Amino acid sequence: MPIVKKSPEEIEKMAAAGEILARCLALLRDKTRPGITTAELDKLAERFIRRSGAEPAFKGYRGFPGSICASPNSMVVHGIPGDYRLERGDILSIDVGVVLDGWVADAAVTVPVGRVSPIAHRLLDTTRAALFAGIDLCVAGNRLGDVSHAIQQRVEQEGFSVVRSLVGHGIGRDMHEDPQIPNFGDPDTGPRLEEGMVLAIEPMVNVGAHPIRMGADNWSVFSQDGSLAAHFEHTVAITSEGPRILTPWHLEEARRAA
Ligand code: MG
Repeated sequence: MPIVKKSPEEIEKMAAAGEILARCLALLRDKTRPGITTAELDKLAERFIRRSGAEPAFKGYRGFPGSICASPNSMVVHGIPGDYRLERGDILSIDVGVVLDGWVADAAVTVPVGRVSPIAHRLLDTTRAALFAGIDLCVAGNRLGDVSHAIQQRVEQEGFSVVRSLVGHGIGRDMHEDPQIPNFGDPDTGPRLEEGMVLAIEPMVNVGAHPIRMGADNWSVFSQDGSLAAHFEHTVAITSEGPRILTPWHLEEARRAA
């Protein structure tokens, strides 16, 4: 399938969905603490998204029951919210999708629950840094492999592994559009990036080896070796002025920290 490019007006609509999403993730980060369940976080997210006049993109997607994916510790992605009660020292990956006026935004963060181990801390810092290293190269004229390579390099220099069998994706009216965006690859390979492309960049990183296994619920995905895993994601538009992050949870975090 060809990569569907978006007009500046369409990118503004995606940014409006992304703004709601960024505030939702900031809210969830604030609420993520020992004792809360992932189902409670899911309820908070759904209420926030609907009160903002939008819809949760994940709810009902291929039958997914939640408005968020909530994936603790060695779970990489696609965790179904439920009665898991967070404990101090956990890490929790929270992935959210928002639809507004038919346009989708997708983003994720991994959040520490209270004080976490040094290795967990380094995993979060590295995965987040890898996301931004990839975003820096989301510039017209670059090739997709440049983005993939930058992510892989940032992760592997810390001795961690990028998950290989799950990828980022184009996004727009559909949550998953072409191209697929692996988090590993060679520079100067793959499709050339053009103004108007919108990409969900989402490194998924294991402390140990890269293989994953499916959980018994047929949704959740775990690191096969049981090592900790993290996931950070932004929806990014390629514009004449360079990469534009449409889901600015990092700015929302900074605002709340100030
Ligand atoms: Mg995604």
